[in-house]
Amino acid sequence: GTASDDEVTKARLAEEARKKYGNPPPTIFSKIIDKTMPADIIYEDEKCLAFRDIGAQAPVHFLVIPRSPIPRISEAADDDEQLLGHLLIVAKNMAKKEGLKEGYRVVINDGKQGAQSVYHLHIHVLGGRQMEWPPG
Ligand code: C5P
Repeated sequence: GTASDDEVTKARLAEEARKKYGNPPPTIFSKIIDKTMPADIIYEDEKCLAFRDIGAQAPVHFLVIPRSPIPRISEAADDDEQLLGHLLIVAKNMAKKEGLKEGYRVVINDGKQGAQSVYHLHIHVLGGRQMEWPPG
């Protein structure tokens, strides 16, 4: 659509997010979504985007994030079911595209004990080397 359609869409999404999640403070990922912060974006659609992690912990390490600013998985709503499913489908499609034929790790960190550092829900996909278990 036109630029003003995009503004209307943004405002509507912001309003919906405020109703659902309170008024989450914007994070660095909000800036990646609105393209005011550069990122190596490898996929995007109307619901989410995927970009390479700047602190890669494996030869392939990317994040899949919803455009909707869900702060953390523990604050997702029951009616986020479709969106959360979509994020996982995008994660596995992009893992395939990145050539991770031998397997990979999918991680969501939640809160302090989960070692979450950015409070905008994100799915990590790591691969290209042997992963270990248990995680640290
Ligand atoms: O799960 P956690 O919150 O710890 O992960 C945040 C991730 O976001 C980190 O792996 C960090 O390297 C990444 N990041 C990024 N680009 C930024 C800021 C953080 O890829 N601009």
